[in-house]
Amino acid sequence: MMVFMKKNNFCWLCGHNEMHVVHTNKFWHGNYDKLICKACGVITTVGIDINTLESAHAMNYSSQVYSNGLPKWPAIYKHAINSMAKYHRIKNLLKGKGAILDLSANTGEFMHLLRMKGYEVYGIEHNPFFVHYIETELKLNVQRHFLDSILLEHNKYDMIIAHNILQCYIDPLALLQKCRQAMKDDGLLNIQIPNIETLFSARASKLSLTNINCFNLHTIRLLIKKAGFSIMNAILIPSSLSINMILAKKPINNDVIDRVESYKNEDSYTDVVNAIGHRATILRLTSKPYYMHKIKEFMNALKYKYMANKYQDRTALLNEMFSNIPL
Ligand SMILES: [Zn+2]
Repeated sequence: MMVFMKKNNFCWLCGHNEMHVVHTNKFWHGNYDKLICKACGVITTVGIDINTLESAHAMNYSSQVYSNGLPKWPAIYKHAINSMAKYHRIKNLLKGKGAILDLSANTGEFMHLLRMKGYEVYGIEHNPFFVHYIETELKLNVQRHFLDSILLEHNKYDMIIAHNILQCYIDPLALLQKCRQAMKDDGLLNIQIPNIETLFSARASKLSLTNINCFNLHTIRLLIKKAGFSIMNAILIPSSLSINMILAKKPINNDVIDRVESYKNEDSYTDVVNAIGHRATILRLTSKPYYMHKIKEFMNALKYKYMANKYQDRTALLNEMFSNIPL
């Protein structure tokens, strides 16, 4: 791996003054370097502005929908299943009714589920096709904001959900500060982010252009402390090692989490460098022979064709899937 030293860059997270290039993303005529901090191990993309980032995201908007602008059935089904897991993660922390904001509404399945459970739900999404679908078909309250340009009302939400979005912001600290202001004093924030240390995904996808900042457990904790949140609890999602945390606006004591303070910056840098140097191809190998994949693909195609025929619209599928979840 080629390593270029850039000594004049200060780490935005820990203030250390030595960072080096670990990857370069190309987009149109631009090269965007990803630098790693030699102290804390955070990886950050330099030189990208919000307009370029918006063009990069916009390139994928239409591929995520059918030609009629509606989201794809397999995506709806997958997100609906994920929504049930998301709901079980937070349901015991919610005090009956309240206002919940989903910062990465996507195609709105989680918002739909929360509304079925009696919550007042709001959503933010940047894919304009998804925003249109959520408004017109699911009839939910969603606004289009593009990442860092987001504006939130103050003291409004009992809970904010931010799954797989924090790494896409140019300034994730500013986003967390906006969330703090938008939350009620006893409000909670549930974040989930990809873990740069996971060996389950390829280097190129972990370090893709739209993953502006890449964190591990150590660096996400530094960020959260900087933003003034307390960590109520943290889990790693078994299949992906993604980090999921419940954060409180008000201070709380959490001995178990605070004891991890002894983890050193230098250890984090070494762990991250080892993780991104690893080629994930070996983990992509599977014991299933090729024809099994073909059979699976065929069965899936049948399943989605069946869905499209059986359900009048996507709302009907969601209502059936969500109607049997215990409160
Ligand atoms: Zn640092």
